[in-house]
Amino acid sequence: MEELINRAAEALSRSQHTVALTGAGISIESGIPPFRGKGGLWEKIDPMTFAHIDAFKRDPALVWEVLVKEMKGMIDTARPNDAHISLARLEEMGILSAVITQNVDGLHQAAGSRDVIEFHGNFAWLRCMSCDGRCETREADVAQLPPRCSCGGIYRPDCVFFGEMIPPGALTRSQLAASQCDVMLVVGTSALVQPAAFMPIIAKEGGATVIEINPEPTPLTSSVSDFLIAGSAGPVLSSVLETIGANGSGGASGSTR
Ligand code: NAD
Ligand code: ZN
Repeated sequence: MEELINRAAEALSRSQHTVALTGAGISIESGIPPFRGKGGLWEKIDPMTFAHIDAFKRDPALVWEVLVKEMKGMIDTARPNDAHISLARLEEMGILSAVITQNVDGLHQAAGSRDVIEFHGNFAWLRCMSCDGRCETREADVAQLPPRCSCGGIYRPDCVFFGEMIPPGALTRSQLAASQCDVMLVVGTSALVQPAAFMPIIAKEGGATVIEINPEPTPLTSSVSDFLIAGSAGPVLSSVLETIGANGSGGASGSTR
């Protein structure tokens, strides 16, 4: 593990444009369970079914009850962990250009990351399905489900459900960032959800070094990634950052970004 941490630190120190792709795994240490994987709160339900737009349209009260309300409770109280903080620090150091995140929890921004591309939107807002009016999720009254707008319409989270399109701006910006980076950090994603899982492939084809941080291998591991650091995002990214500091490199700060 130590050798791989050193390899990652070296690659980042040399990098002019690192991009991170993050998934639900990076927020597990902040108390938000992933969709797949062991111990997830949602082992009992099938989130792929419940997080589908057709399920929401069919029975919004049920999807609110079993999935959305639960997520709201967790996201309202979650705080960024060492992994989010390390990525924000790498941006500050001029090493990291952008974070492409599949998460909707807003924890990258809470940690101080400025350039965050939200591939699946954000859970911070609700949107009325009738009049498009918006309401902050934390302000929403969920005593009665589904919560309703003053026009009587049903509020939905303003994030991307399965079966919906990726916001075009987020998709094109992500593709551009992936094609231009020289290092891609792939952190806490099972790489099973498309088209997000395609971003490391774009990076690789553009000549980037692809480094995965995940306790488990993924479909990218033996085919696309240069190497996998098999550990938890928080401790691994903290060690990488410490190693960069110990090697006395401020990264590509002040470079041509
Ligand atoms: P996923 O649930 O499919 O996979 C999570 C991955 O994280 C797994 O590969 C797992 O091995 C890894 N992991 C587990 N513990 C880890 C740790 N401590 N450090 C690093 N990695 C760890 O997640 P996904 O690939 O992001 O896909 C699920 C989709 O569901 C996402 O696209 C996202 O939109 C949504 N989602 C978001 C949140 C959130 O916002 N926090 C939470 C759940 C699901
Ligand atoms: Zn309305």
